[in-house]
Amino acid sequence: MSAILVQNLYRYFGQLKAVDGISFEIPHGSVCGFVGANGAGKTTTMRILSTLDYPTMGTAEICGINVVHHPDKVRSLIGWMPDHFGNYDHMTVLEYLDFYARALGYKDQERRERIREVMEFTDLIPLADRLSNKLSKGMTQRLGLGRALIHDPQILIMDEPAAGLDPKARVELKHLIRILAQEGKTIFISSHILSELGEMCDSLLFINGGRIVHHGDAESLKQGSDATGGLFYDVQVAERPEAVNDWAILNPGVEFIESRKRGGRIRIDSTDPHQAAEVLSRMVRDGVKVIEFHREERNLEDAFIDILGRIDQGLAATVAPEQAREALGHSAEKN
Ligand code: ATP
Repeated sequence: MSAILVQNLYRYFGQLKAVDGISFEIPHGSVCGFVGANGAGKTTTMRILSTLDYPTMGTAEICGINVVHHPDKVRSLIGWMPDHFGNYDHMTVLEYLDFYARALGYKDQERRERIREVMEFTDLIPLADRLSNKLSKGMTQRLGLGRALIHDPQILIMDEPAAGLDPKARVELKHLIRILAQEGKTIFISSHILSELGEMCDSLLFINGGRIVHHGDAESLKQGSDATGGLFYDVQVAERPEAVNDWAILNPGVEFIESRKRGGRIRIDSTDPHQAAEVLSRMVRDGVKVIEFHREERNLEDAFIDILGRIDQGLAATVAPEQAREALGHSAEKN
């Protein structure tokens, strides 16, 4: 049985198809990154999984339990961390967590113990007496995570937890997520910061216009070819760097992509390693003084944009690659 199972899930707001027939499965103990441009349907999907909204059609299950039919059971299994959550005026960090622990039914010593554990984990003990609505963004996110963890849920659903955090706070949050993953929790996390997701996720789920456009592991995305079946190589030479460009211009199947200090990046129009070996030997035979030649991983942003590009060309044009690039997080506000 999967930790999260979604089958043919739809959520319409009037005419708007926010979630348009998606299906996916997340196994227990894995970390899955949920990626998509603004308005792609991430929050809507996560809110349904967290029992805060109803699907128009379709099924969503947490550990085999239907989120619509048994919301209380589902709530005991999940920790939900929304992208924005309200804090109460005049309530300290300790009082805030105590309030939620009481609401979850913890009593006396067990409650104190649970709050202490959560505060230790999220490093909130030094902030116990600070007003919860006067915290920095990073501290607020740690408080949100603490709140989501009070009942020690098996599954964490986190909607853009890193949005608006400075680099130090992001590293801290990433560290906490890594520990939770090591403890065996299932984590479903949305973000615009693909490079960070790639580091911590076992799989990535791409959504676009309410539809899943890709679900796979981050490693295979990095290793994969681009839309037209090409791979990228870094070439460094012991002579003038322009030699790489000069050579590539004259050789079909090889495209010069960008200059680098000691050479450049080229694209070979094939995924066959024999082809790469043939290109390298041709370069050497033609007198280019190659001192380094290695395959480069694609970054995940490129992979995502590439997938959208394929959709644009064939299946369902929804978001143009350039729009996606902008939406993906190169917006300072989101990051
Ligand atoms: P973002 O990255 O900007 O948070 P998202 O991928 O989380 O975007 P959603 O918030 O799920 O996207 O929104 C999907 C679409 O549904 C958007 O067009 C949004 O405007 C719309 N939408 C979401 N909630 C509602 C609502 N309650 N009423 C009407 N439209 C809604």
